[in-house]
Amino acid sequence: MAESLPYLSGSEIRDKFLKFYESKQHKILPSASLISEDPTVILTIAGMLPFKPIFLGQQKAPQPRATTSQKCIRTNDIENVGRTARHHTFFEMLGNFSFGDYFKEQAIEWAWELSTQVYQLPPERIVVSVFQDDNEAFAIWRDKIGIPAHRIQRLGEEDNYWTMGATGPCGPCSELYYDFHPELGDENIDLEDDSRFIEFYNLVFMQYNQDAERNRTPLENKNIDTGLGLERMAQILQQVPNNYETDLIFPIIKTAAEIAGIDYSKADEKTKTSLKVIGDHVRSVVHMIADGISASNVGRGYILRRLIRRVVRHGRLIGIDGNFINKVAETAITLSESAYPAIREREEFIKNQLQSEESQFLKTLERGEKLLAEIINRVGTFRAMRSESFRETSLQRISGVDAFKLYDTYGFPLELTQEIAEEQGLTVDVEGFEVEMKKQRGRGRDSHETIDLTVQGSIDKLAEHIHPTEFSGYTELQATAKIEAVLVEGKTVETAEVGTEIQLILDSTPFYAESGGQIGDKGYLSGDNLLIRITDVQKESGFFVHYGKIVPQSGSLRDRGTVKVGDTVNATIDRASRRRVQANHTATHLLQAALKKIVDDSVSQAGSLVECDRLRFDFNSPRALTPDEVKQVEKLVNTWISEAHEADVNIMPIEEAKAKGATAMFGEKYGDEVRVIDFSGVSMELCGGTHVHNTAEIGAFKIISETGISSGVRRIEAVAGAAILDYLEVRDKVVKELSDKFKVKPEEVSERVNNLQAELKATQKELEVIKQELAVAKSDGLLSQAETVGDFKLLVANMGEMDAKSLQSAGERLQQKLGESAVVLASIPRGGKVILVAAFSQKVIKEKKLQAGKFIGGIAKICGGGGGGRPNLAQAGGRDASKLEEALETAKKQLIEGLS
Ligand code: ATP
Ligand code: MG
Repeated sequence: MAESLPYLSGSEIRDKFLKFYESKQHKILPSASLISEDPTVILTIAGMLPFKPIFLGQQKAPQPRATTSQKCIRTNDIENVGRTARHHTFFEMLGNFSFGDYFKEQAIEWAWELSTQVYQLPPERIVVSVFQDDNEAFAIWRDKIGIPAHRIQRLGEEDNYWTMGATGPCGPCSELYYDFHPELGDENIDLEDDSRFIEFYNLVFMQYNQDAERNRTPLENKNIDTGLGLERMAQILQQVPNNYETDLIFPIIKTAAEIAGIDYSKADEKTKTSLKVIGDHVRSVVHMIADGISASNVGRGYILRRLIRRVVRHGRLIGIDGNFINKVAETAITLSESAYPAIREREEFIKNQLQSEESQFLKTLERGEKLLAEIINRVGTFRAMRSESFRETSLQRISGVDAFKLYDTYGFPLELTQEIAEEQGLTVDVEGFEVEMKKQRGRGRDSHETIDLTVQGSIDKLAEHIHPTEFSGYTELQATAKIEAVLVEGKTVETAEVGTEIQLILDSTPFYAESGGQIGDKGYLSGDNLLIRITDVQKESGFFVHYGKIVPQSGSLRDRGTVKVGDTVNATIDRASRRRVQANHTATHLLQAALKKIVDDSVSQAGSLVECDRLRFDFNSPRALTPDEVKQVEKLVNTWISEAHEADVNIMPIEEAKAKGATAMFGEKYGDEVRVIDFSGVSMELCGGTHVHNTAEIGAFKIISETGISSGVRRIEAVAGAAILDYLEVRDKVVKELSDKFKVKPEEVSERVNNLQAELKATQKELEVIKQELAVAKSDGLLSQAETVGDFKLLVANMGEMDAKSLQSAGERLQQKLGESAVVLASIPRGGKVILVAAFSQKVIKEKKLQAGKFIGGIAKICGGGGGGRPNLAQAGGRDASKLEEALETAKKQLIEGLS
């Protein structure tokens, strides 16, 4: 093999890359956060992402050349983790970038020099690909570098052409591959064959601009963007069979294997895959938390939670019981701390989160796994029964309701259920799951929960020539504004007529657009002969998109109500709604502050919703609040309301806000300057929303419920301000109805219900007694049915719907009445399961060597169950009621034989 390769550690590979490009006048920049600033992706997926505004021409490059080692997470490769040798969720991408500076030839020359001089890869081991039409790149590789033509592969658009989006900068790529088996010869080079080749370096030549019609025109300033996978280069230079066995990851795998008591080198493939998944995901979660992401049920937080839960689950698969994630996390932190010192600084924080997520999940995992096994069993049986006559597709599915139950009650991310199902050859009804999810979110406010996708495309185009909307609504409730764009059914138009549903973009607006949980403002836009009712406002790419309808104005018949781009309108928000929303929003801040004071300082916001008539606050807490805590929280908020605290709103650098102790939503991305809402020390939060000027404006605050919405996340629903009156009215109506129905005064309703419940309980008890008596009578009626076998009496009978307790006492009683005897009774109570009881007298046990426990256990097997007990009295159960007759016949036959 390649004995001549120099061994380089992961950090040496990283250092040598950065130093090499530094020597070529590139500025070394630190890795950007995993939290992507780019709105099109939520995590950083490539080294170029932080430079996207420069490539798009929105930002000037601070220097013409840069080089980075960028932390990346690609969740789309999650299926490949542990299965291919080269894919991770978390990996580091080494890159060199040219912003309108050097181009193709230089990039190729340096990539070659780096690969063959710095990393000392033998030239004959490198194969390259170019885009099929890129003759220029082909010629550089062949003529300047000297690679034989048959080792330069031309690939199509799918593999070797890069675009930033539907429009924008784009260009051909060229990739470098390492050849593990040159002895196979150059005749049949197939770069897809990953047992022979690994792609390690991709060079993107950004040289065109693509317009909406896919026409490509040459860019004036051509750019270079590249990516070299650190883990892949480590695999090559450390001469190991895959990325996982490099010094960047293998120590984590070793730690996990030790905990499980496994020798990696002797482990089977399945175990190895689990260990690799752990090795990969632990790196991801440690870096995600260090970058400020916290586990939740949405967005990045959800990805984090999913990854943690996969680690826990794969730990169990290889036999680890209990908590272990922090031991592997410690190894991951040690491995990363030299390159990313911040990770050690945040160690405690990282471990706290991991520990609490792991513990929460472990608690429910076992029960969830049982339920899932049952579901899979059920689906599997059903499939086996029906597959001959039906097409299999719909039968191989776990229903949406089941998947949702697993998610909601047991905290199984949908993807985890899918993964486990897939191992069993089943799929999950994802649509059904979404339906259940929507139902839970309830109150059908999903109309504009996210922006219309049809609108999105047009807005992206608008971004090229319209300025972002200016927001004046913190101080003004009314303003004149110019109409910048009109959209109808997702397309930009110049004019629209009365009756049309439209979306509008203004140059500036007092309308608040939904964000930070606060809903968008409602109101009107009016102009000459024009009235537009606005029902919602959403923010998209810096634009405030006003959703509305042109309504006819009363009085004027001639009036056609036309809106035109360029018109000036008067924008007026609905003050009453805004005031209600503000009361609810400030109340949410006070609520968070009160929770921190009364429950725990570590309570942190997981989400919120602020509407006209209610508010909802989701927060991380490992336990439910006690009723007393709920009361105290409510009381404290009301105290702060009556103390009339003034709002103090200031814009300041984020560092200053943090120093002052302002509460921020963890994992949220803030700019350098932040808006801080301060109610004289009672509550101080970073927030872009609108608020009351003085807490007294809220009037009052009432908590309606405190519930769990997923493991570790609690939800408080409450009302504040004028909305309380609506709430009281509804409650009042309920109380009135009840007092009418029970014919008592409202304050007596509770006592009346208590009495009724007591009566009900007494009646139920009486019913129990009667049931027992009935069972006795029924069993006594069976005495005459007993047969005589030799010296013994034998009775085998089906008692119908009797419950287990009654069945046992009936068995015992019948056996005693029959003297030396064997009695077997069965029943199928409401649940549909089979219960079997056997009662044998002493002589049966001693002389005939028959034992009730063993005997009935054997019989229960026929009904797909088991059980047992003492020699004289025993009970067993089974799942399959259709086999009961057969079981009783067998019992009778065996006892006739055994007793004679
Ligand atoms: P592949 O086809 O192997 O998935 P790719 O074409 O998706 O790779 P690029 O998007 O070109 O890769 O990324 C640039 C470089 O980053 C790759 O050449 C590779 O070295 C590395 N890389 C990409 N995806 C991963 C991953 N999931 N894990 C580890 N390294 C990766
Ligand atoms: Mg890929």
